[in-house]
Amino acid sequence: MSQWQERAAKVYMTTNKRVPLTIERGKGVWVWDDSGKKYLDFVGGWAVNTLGHSHPAMVKTLAAQSKKLIQTSNQFYTIPQVQLGELLVKNSCMDQVFFCNSGAEANEGAIKLARKYGKLKRNGAYEIISTEGSFHGRTLAAVAATGNPHYQENFLPMPSGFVHVPYNDIEAVMSATTDKTCAVLIEPVQGENGVIVPSKEYMRQLRKWCDEKGLLLIFDEVQTGIGRLGTLFGYEAFGVEPDVMSLAKGLGGGVPIGAFLAKKHAAVLTPGDHGTTFGGNPLACAVGCTVVDYVLKRKVLANAKKSGARLTKDLQKLQKKHAFITEVRGQGLLQAVQFKDDISGDVLTAAIKHGLLVNAPRPNTLRFIPPLVITTHEVDEGVKRLGKAIAEVAKAKGLK
Ligand SMILES: *Cc1c(COP(=O)(O)O)cnc(C)c1O
Repeated sequence: MSQWQERAAKVYMTTNKRVPLTIERGKGVWVWDDSGKKYLDFVGGWAVNTLGHSHPAMVKTLAAQSKKLIQTSNQFYTIPQVQLGELLVKNSCMDQVFFCNSGAEANEGAIKLARKYGKLKRNGAYEIISTEGSFHGRTLAAVAATGNPHYQENFLPMPSGFVHVPYNDIEAVMSATTDKTCAVLIEPVQGENGVIVPSKEYMRQLRKWCDEKGLLLIFDEVQTGIGRLGTLFGYEAFGVEPDVMSLAKGLGGGVPIGAFLAKKHAAVLTPGDHGTTFGGNPLACAVGCTVVDYVLKRKVLANAKKSGARLTKDLQKLQKKHAFITEVRGQGLLQAVQFKDDISGDVLTAAIKHGLLVNAPRPNTLRFIPPLVITTHEVDEGVKRLGKAIAEVAKAKGLK
């Protein structure tokens, strides 16, 4: 254990199981620990480091904007907030935006918007249908929307008004819909649940059902937004437009920022309904502009597709070698492998030895969410290291 881990143990609330690794610096898709050891980063700050670590374009913007203006409150207008709002609206199907600081907060705002929509346009309907296995964040309403009792049980009672149905099952949404329903909230791909990709048909049917019933279709794009699936927004990969979407993770490339956006007919919030002190501050918005601009102008989406396809191919090769890899799944640079047994923690530990950082959302699943600028060569290198880690664990455990 390094001195930092010992010191942390004395002062941290241990809400996270942490890997015993202290990261000191990063560059591109690489990070270095406090002893100077180098790792290829397939975690990317949990799908946050869109352009990799300390990208020069981000560093330049952060330095320039911090000299100019960091925070003013939303009592005033600032130039970067308007610019980022325009950039997102121009490049999405949405008309209006609200900026906040995180994914949970973005969903919290979207939930409030949906409830007001129900009040105004659906005779006071307030229930939101979300899906089993979903993850929407850790604030109380976001946890209530999250379809995982494990995140809820210590904090009961949950705010009411949330109904959970199986994912990728349109019949379940239909039969859960009542006069009280105001919205359906889903992730275009369930990330924390181990990268579960729904069918295009499900998405199309959801859109149709929400149109028929006058429900808002809300996409939680906190993880899928800003290029993760190889399209700027996840909805584009499915050919379906939501009425509302939330963003966060990749939007600031590592600087905390979140947002929720709505189409005009759904943008029902008015003065006094919602607010934030830090949300949309000029520092975060300036770097958000830099990240989104870079993604759009520097072929980052094409790269995510290309490197994502390579990742699939490399992982499938690995699967051919090991029968205990039961599935390779995902899209773009949001991918996972599933094992027959609960060995993802062991593989994660072995991978660190081989200089690779991975994420284990489930005991039998590893998730890969590297920066979107990763090259095919770096993908090959990462999967090579992963292969070594898997072979080592297989040998130790006698897996075939
Ligand atoms: C990470 C995540 C969140 C929560 O975001 P925070 O910034 O941690 O609050 C919400 N929804 C999805 C889909 C996520 O992946």
